[in-house]
Amino acid sequence: MKPDTGPRSEKLKRSGRPFPWRCPECGQRKVQPATIAHTAEIKHDGRLYTVEIPELRVPRCEACGELVFDTQADEQIARELRRQLGLLSAEQIRRNRENLWLSQRQLAERLGVAVETISRWETGALTQSRAMDRYLRVYFGVPAVRAALDGDDAPACLGVEVRS
Ligand SMILES: [Zn+2]
Repeated sequence: MKPDTGPRSEKLKRSGRPFPWRCPECGQRKVQPATIAHTAEIKHDGRLYTVEIPELRVPRCEACGELVFDTQADEQIARELRRQLGLLSAEQIRRNRENLWLSQRQLAERLGVAVETISRWETGALTQSRAMDRYLRVYFGVPAVRAALDGDDAPACLGVEVRS
């Protein structure tokens, strides 16, 4: 994502600190929480998207205006991108999984993705690709697809279906 200004671990460290923060641009200790209208350009899934957030909560330097994106601001932008693209929200993915009584690990095994991927989709830290979004919808929405993927021998079973 474009507004990413530093590694995530650095942001998590910063997120816990009391305001005001020191501005990475002008060096003054004048970074305070602010709510602003913001337009973000985000590269996702091989394309560039413009995302408008009317009320973005983001720390901002009162001296020079520099925006200091923290994880909360990033996640707000990611949420808006998901909404704009019509992707399942983090909450929808979690709810659909829980409705099927599946743990994150079980869903990961059935879909053939890493459990960390499921976890990050559900916290909003990672935005699923459009292809993955369709895969999730098909899995959640079509019982026959779940039946085909749920067995221990799922790949073999799918192979049989392709041949027939
Ligand atoms: Zn500044």
